[in-house]
Parts: sequence; structure tokens; C-alpha cells
Amino acid sequence: MEPKKRYETLDPENWDEMRALAHRMVDDAITYLKTIRERPVWQQIPDEIAARFDEPAPLEPVGPDAVYQEFSETILPYPMGNTHPRFWGWYMGAGTVLGALADFLASIMNPNLAGGNHVANLVEDQVINWIKEILSFPKDSSGLLVGGGSMANFVGIAVARNVKAGFDVRELGMQASPQKLTVYASNEVHSSNQKAVELLGLGNASLRKIPVNDDYAINLDLLQQNITSDREAGYRPICVIGTAGTTNTGAIDDLSALADLCLREDLWFHVDGAIGAVGILAENVRPKLNGIERADSVGLDLHKWMHIPFEAGCIIVRSEKYHRGTFSLTPEYLAHETRGLAAGHIWFSDYGLELSRQFRALKVWMSIKEHGLDRFGRMIARNVNQAFYFGQLVEKEPNMELTAPIGMDIVCFRFNPGERNDDSLNKINKEILMRLHEQGIAAPSYTTLNQRYCLRIAIANHRSTQDDFDLLAKEVVRIGNEITESGGLI
Ligand SMILES: *Cc1c(COP(=O)(O)O)cnc(C)c1O
Repeated sequence: MEPKKRYETLDPENWDEMRALAHRMVDDAITYLKTIRERPVWQQIPDEIAARFDEPAPLEPVGPDAVYQEFSETILPYPMGNTHPRFWGWYMGAGTVLGALADFLASIMNPNLAGGNHVANLVEDQVINWIKEILSFPKDSSGLLVGGGSMANFVGIAVARNVKAGFDVRELGMQASPQKLTVYASNEVHSSNQKAVELLGLGNASLRKIPVNDDYAINLDLLQQNITSDREAGYRPICVIGTAGTTNTGAIDDLSALADLCLREDLWFHVDGAIGAVGILAENVRPKLNGIERADSVGLDLHKWMHIPFEAGCIIVRSEKYHRGTFSLTPEYLAHETRGLAAGHIWFSDYGLELSRQFRALKVWMSIKEHGLDRFGRMIARNVNQAFYFGQLVEKEPNMELTAPIGMDIVCFRFNPGERNDDSLNKINKEILMRLHEQGIAAPSYTTLNQRYCLRIAIANHRSTQDDFDLLAKEVVRIGNEITESGGLI
């Protein structure tokens, strides 16, 4: 008799072997994270490894063990580096171990968070409620977990546009606008807001970028003047975007003053809190965020300063009615029932662009329960203290200087041994950054402030210690001296 042929599915051919592989993966992963400090922050991907990613998709199975082997050799050794204690580039989070395991469990359950009567929706609802509470928003306000700050800003500004346009934008589209709508933010506003304004049909020209003060926060007088003169010229101002933590320098706009102004001018007040909104958990940041609780909408990131594994962002909208009014669309095949699986009051697809949605709430829920909000607050507060500590190291060192006021956990600085013009210093500092990366020492990034190239550290990292900052200061000076003494870039 022929042996019974396996009924083909995508499940393992041998469950015990898959179990053994899964155990090995978890063991390797925990070891990897436990020993993260021992490896370089970053390393260049060798050409022969990069070439592997040009290979076409296989038609025949290679099996799970071989795939994992390949992952271990060609992918795991070349990460971005943001799990390392000396990664301070752009603005990343460092991840949490349980958050990563939660992502695995979320994929095991594999629900679709469009909505319906299953428990994952309750988890997301609870996480959103926690975030409302953190921000002191009313219980009956609305929210949605999204991929990140960019999507959060998009959702917030979309609601702003539809509510303040003065006509039915959903039905008629922007062609029907009798007036040009304008949106206001400082010239330090994050690019995601510009993208949102562009994609919402307002056009970049309608995003008025207002100059900042010396502390890189929006200049309120110029904002008011712009709004007034736009009205006189026949425009229709609809929204002010306040930034709670700019990407360049960590500056926080005066949110209370912006809330007052928006009330006075009947404008939607959106806060881009991708970086700083969760700073409300830390005593040394909280007072600077006064007024955030008065916003109409707040976009924030949980994958930055809360360290939830990517992706996890959130938008909170004060008015549930307006939020829903912008995104809800329920055709027959998505009808919400009163009983069974399609019942339940929670339909997240009514609050955003996406229908199918991942169970990203689980990693947030598990991480917050594991550590408690106070610990997250302490990690944030410590990063702020570390920024000021590093700032002192820079100021004490004759060959370094700060290039902007320290904003929360962001320090902009440069190597400057004197007697060189900006052009030469720009080249030297750029070379310092490249060598810090290539030698695997640390991963700052850079920005340009007043045409000056600056090294920039954004310390959203729960693994960094004081020694890490001592090392950075020492290595910047060492490399800087090496470059200037070799005479190559002067
Ligand atoms: C990072 C950032 C964003 C974009 O958030 P993503 O999570 O990367 O989409 C928006 N605004 C500010 C101020 C940011 O720093």
C-alpha cells in the first residue's frame, strides 16, 4: 500500500522539529540581546552578503532550518544598530525584549484589527485609553494605533481639514474649496506633516512655515501676524501644528499659547508629539508640555521614547464624532452586526485609512504591564539628564562646542579646535561621524543648523550609561585630532 500522502498546507511537516527550531530561535535571540553591548554599533554589509539579496525567489522549499541558518548568517549580523547602548542616531527607540516576544504572539494569534467581536480589539481599545489618560484627554475622546508618527499626523490633519474646511470635503473634494485653506507650523516642523498637507490636497504652498526663536520653538508673534494677513488676503486658516519635541533639537513649542491662539482664531490645534508627547511620563519634561491636553489631536510615537518594537504610533483625537466622520465608510461586506464575530462596538477601520490592521497593541500592552508607566518615566527622565551630562562634557572640552540649546534628550555639537572656518569644520565633523560609524564606536547622526554641520545625539535609549557618553566625548576629540593633525581636510 502507498504511504498516505501528506495533505499539503503551510504548516510544518514535522511539528517537533519546528518546536525545536523555535526554541533555538528564542535562545539565540535572548543571547543576542543580552550581549548587544559586545558588538559594534554598526558595520558595513560586505558586498558578497549584499549580493545574496539579488537572488530571485525560490520556487521550491528550502525548509525552515535552512532559512533560519541564512537569517543568522546574512541578516542578523548587520542591523541598523538601534538596540545598541551607543546608538543615538535620528530618533529611534531601543526595543524591549518582551515587546519582541509579544510581536511573535500577536502573529501567532494573527487577528485582523479592522474591528469585530474578538479580544484583540479590547486590547487596542485599552491601550488607547491608557494613552488618553497619560495625555489627560477626556475618556470619550478617540484614538487609533498606527504605524508611526507620520500616519498619526496624517490622520490628525485629515480630521482638521474636513472639520475646518467649511464645506463637505469628503463628498466634493478639494476642487470645491471656495477659499485656499492654510496650515501653520514652525519651520522646524517634521516633514511628515508636509507630506500630509500635500497628500490631503492642500499643497505645500499652503503650509506656512513660521520662523523659530533662538530656542527653536515657534515665534508666536510671527504666527499671529501670518494668520491675520492670510485672512486679510482671503485665505482660510484651518490648523496650527505645534511640535512637542522637534527632530533637529528637541525644542517644544509653547503649547499653552498655541492652544489659546487656536481657540481665539477658531483653528484646529494638532500636536506632533512623535518625540516628546510621552515625555509627559517624566517629571523633568512634563511641565514643558503644558497645554498638550488642550489639543484637538495629538500624534505620538511609542516606538521612539517608549521603546516599543517598530512599528507603534498613535493618534488621539478629542472629538470621536469628527474622527469617525472623516474615516468611517461601511459597505455591506463590512456591516457591523449585533451578535457573533462581526458584532462589537469597536471598528478601528472607521478611524483610519487602513482596513486590515496588525495586532500592534499587544506589544504595547505587554510592555506597559511588564514595566509600569513609572519606569518608562524614569528611563525618559534619565535620558534628559544624560543629555545635560553630555552637554557639560562638551562645554568642558576646549575642542568641542554646543551648536544649539539642549532640547529634552537631543544634543547638537561639533568638534571645533579653533582657527578654522565653518567650511573646514563641516568637513572635519562629517569625517568624524563617518569614522564613529565605521569603527563601530557609536552612532550619532547629524544635522545642519545655520549652515553648520553638527553631530547630533538623540538619546532615546534605555541601555545607555554615563560611560557611553564619556566614551563618545573622548572618541570625538581623538578622531577630530587625528583628522586635523593629518592635515587632509583643512
Ligand atoms: C519621527 C518623527 C515623526 C515621524 O514619525 P514616524 O514614526 O517616523 O513615522 C514625526 N514628527 C516628528 C517630530 C518626528 O521626530
